[in-house]
Amino acid sequence: MIERTAKNGHKIVEVSHLEAHILRWGNICDKCNAPLIAERFYIPVLNYGVCGECSSIWGNTASFFKEDIPFEQSAINVLKTIGLNYEVEGRDNYESI
Ligand SMILES: [Zn+2]
Repeated sequence: MIERTAKNGHKIVEVSHLEAHILRWGNICDKCNAPLIAERFYIPVLNYGVCGECSSIWGNTASFFKEDIPFEQSAINVLKTIGLNYEVEGRDNYESI
């Protein structure tokens, strides 16, 4: 999975279909109910898994709330403990736990 920083300043994590399957996540967008066939985008600050279109809309329109950072980070930390590769875009190091 790949973590990126959205335009609004919060994080969006791209998760492959296989990773979502390993995590036992559902295949329905939490925002628009569209089927998630390939990759999906996890929004840690909302604990939502959404399609590409909903991810883009949220990233471009949602507000940044500094007080939500601890919740966002704790959701990210859960993903990092699962044992799948976790990459942060723009960083050379690759975290594999
Ligand atoms: Zn959607």
